[in-house]
Parts: sequence; C-alpha cells; structure tokens
Amino acid sequence: MKIFSNPQELKIYLKEIDKTVGFVPTMGALHEGHISLVKKAKEQNEVVVVSIFVNPTQFLKGEDFEKYPRKDEADKQICKLSGVDVLFFPQAEDIYTDDEVSLNAPRIRGFVLEGNSRPSHFDGVLTVVMKLLNIVNPTRAYFGKKDAQQLNLISLMVKQLFMSVEIVPVDTVREKDGLALSSRNVYLSSPQRKEALKIVSSLHSAGMMVSKNILNSELITNEMRKILAPLEISYVEILNRDFQKIEILEIGNSVILVEAKVGVTRLLDNIWL
Ligand code: AMP
Repeated sequence: MKIFSNPQELKIYLKEIDKTVGFVPTMGALHEGHISLVKKAKEQNEVVVVSIFVNPTQFLKGEDFEKYPRKDEADKQICKLSGVDVLFFPQAEDIYTDDEVSLNAPRIRGFVLEGNSRPSHFDGVLTVVMKLLNIVNPTRAYFGKKDAQQLNLISLMVKQLFMSVEIVPVDTVREKDGLALSSRNVYLSSPQRKEALKIVSSLHSAGMMVSKNILNSELITNEMRKILAPLEISYVEILNRDFQKIEILEIGNSVILVEAKVGVTRLLDNIWL
C-alpha cells in the first residue's frame, strides 16, 4: 500500500497509472462501515484510494474536532488488510491555506435537518469533498447512506457542477443489535449505548407500520417520537429521495431520518424504504 500526504504527488501518481479508481473519503477511526465502502470500491475499480482527513471546516465552534477519535496507526493497518492500494493522509496545511475559495451548500437543502442544527457544516463538507475529488480524480466515489443528507448534497454538487465522477451510495453497516456503526459510538457509555438503541427501535417501528400499509408521515413520525421520547430529538422526518418532505410515504422513493442526542453525542440514522 502506498501512502501519500502531498496532494500534488498523489495527483501525479494516479495520473501516471491510468486505471479506474474507486475513492473512499473518510475521517478515520475506521470500522466495518468504512470497510464495506472499500469492498464495494474494490469490486468495481482497478485501484482503490482511501483518504483519512479529519476536516476542520465541517466542525462548528464547540464541536468535537479536537477530541474526534484519531487512530492513525490502526487505520493504516486496517487499510492494508482490506486491500487498499493508496492511502491519502494529508495534514490540514496540505489541504487549506489562509485565504480560501470555498463552496456553499445550497441555501434550502443544505440548511434543513443536520444543516439546521449545524449551519455551515455542509459548506465545509462540500468544500473538502470537492478538493479531495479534484486531487484523486476518481472514476467512482463511495459514500454511506447512513449520512443520507451528505450523500444527497454531494450527489447534487456533482450534478450541478457537471462533474464526471460517479457517486455510489453504500448501505449502512450495523452492530448485531442494529445500532449503526459510527466513529462517534466510542463516546457512548454502556447505559448510553442502550439508550441509543431507541433510535433503531423507532426506525424498526416505522418499518413495521409501513409493512402494514400505514403510510401517513405524521402518524409514523408521532409513533417514532414516542419511542425516542427520553432522548433529545433534533429531527424525525420522512422525505422523498429528492429530500423533499412528503405527507404520504412513497414506497421505493422515501427516506426516514432521525437525529437524536444521547448524552452529548449526536447520532444519525435512517432507513430507505
Ligand atoms: P466518516 O469517516 O464518518 O466521515 O465516514 C466516511 C464514510 O463512511 C461516509 O461516506 C459515511 O457515510 C460512511 N459510513 C459511516 N458509517 C457507516 C456505516 N455504518 N455503514 C456504511 N457507511 C458508513
């Protein structure tokens, strides 16, 4: 496995090898969720590039940038064992300078849901993803459905800016009890870990209602809110795949999204129905 920190060197290397490239951008503290993206990228491309970069511009003041889990050595080993060909491991100064061109998330779709509780978060996400895509110039880039709004905004950016990379969505990997894997799960104490399962139960109950043909969004989200009640709920929404609110759930074209706080840890989850 080759490791690069310099963007220009990586760019030249990838240009010279002239192969199909699958790209998996991450913030490290790798788990099975990240590995499933790598596996999919390996199936579909000749070369797989993973980036590990805890992007400062997507954290708001007072968020967990400083204490975000960093496991550099373990991550390198995981990448090697997962058959990653190239690891891109830049420092902030390799990516950003003092006076920057930057991208703004769309004013409506970028400022609802997670963008509402974290204004400017998606400006940082889109800016870094654009930079990373320009450095790697991949054939395909892989993003988890777990971060559904991020996936939606990145797909929108690629379409609206006429970029040629293919964005490939990947299903959410879960623990045996259903909790979606996340690098932030390490923040949870063992009682909080149990509390977090309310998020899974709420989505499960929504799935059960839909299977009984109860499709009214308000009925479904009210039931979900009852299950989530002890947690601090940021949002519970039913949207279509274009991320517009819908009153009646459309099977095959809907996402049910939850964000709730367990202690101080914000957890996201969703199901695509
Ligand atoms: P992160 O390191 O949290 O920025 O995540 C990097 C990529 O992995 C993003 O595209 C995430 O959506 C994806 N990802 C995170 N958790 C999971 C999971 N449990 N299953 C599948 N993909 C995931």
